[in-house]
Amino acid sequence: MRTVSSGTIRQIVGTTSGIAASDGDGVSLRRIVGSPELDMVDPFLLLDAFGSDRPDEYIGGFPEHPHRGFETVTYLLAGRMRHKDNAGHEGVIEPGGIQWMTAGRGIVHSEMPEQEDGLLAGFQLWVNLPAGDKMCAPGYQEFPASEIPVEQIDGGGKICVITGTTDGGTSGPVKNIATDPIYLDVHLERDGIFTQTMAESHSGFLYVIDGTLSVGEKRDVLPSGTLGLLGPGDRVEAIAGDGGCRFLMIAGRRLNEPVARGGPFVMNTREQVMQAFQDFRSGRF
Ligand code: FE
Repeated sequence: MRTVSSGTIRQIVGTTSGIAASDGDGVSLRRIVGSPELDMVDPFLLLDAFGSDRPDEYIGGFPEHPHRGFETVTYLLAGRMRHKDNAGHEGVIEPGGIQWMTAGRGIVHSEMPEQEDGLLAGFQLWVNLPAGDKMCAPGYQEFPASEIPVEQIDGGGKICVITGTTDGGTSGPVKNIATDPIYLDVHLERDGIFTQTMAESHSGFLYVIDGTLSVGEKRDVLPSGTLGLLGPGDRVEAIAGDGGCRFLMIAGRRLNEPVARGGPFVMNTREQVMQAFQDFRSGRF
């Protein structure tokens, strides 16, 4: 492994494989962040992993529902998902594609499988907005796989860069997000090494999709389907196990603000959440 001349390497300070959950109209998923095991990783409010080739576990999709006060990020690994909102925005997310939706003051949308069988797999991440941005105008940043830069790693592997900048200098297409996030999909071959700067101001985690990953100086091993929460420091170092590894690295600047959750609304106070329910019920979204 490359020697590090300065800085602190982040260590794993906790792990979780989430809890089995069902959301939308009966979609089976694992709730990795936003569960009793790991309530949030400021600024991340939720991470759901879904993946099934059984239509009965996904066909119901996520029929019309509102959001206010944060961003929903959908990253699809397999299958096709159609989204549609009350402002006339509609499209299909395909494998390797990303949709970064800033709900802001409010949207009502649906997210439905665009398939009747086969594998549907991916992630949904909720990213909090700072108090001053919670009521901003809704917006989308959407990119198919072909527009997501892929950086080759020396010695075998690649990084698909969704947002943020790698140490190799590759920047993702999703820009101008309040929490200055990094979202990488990293593929390492056997014994492949990954290193990445992650500012002290940021919280972050690694989530192993396939294979195993050894993290930090203690070489803590994360098996497949496991999130490793990163402790303080300013860089991440990890090495793939014998079978190689595919994992997500997600990080963002901590907001350190009060969080009031009310289902699809995440605000700073109870009153703001009640206001969101009232605005939604009276058709003001
Ligand atoms: Fe949604």
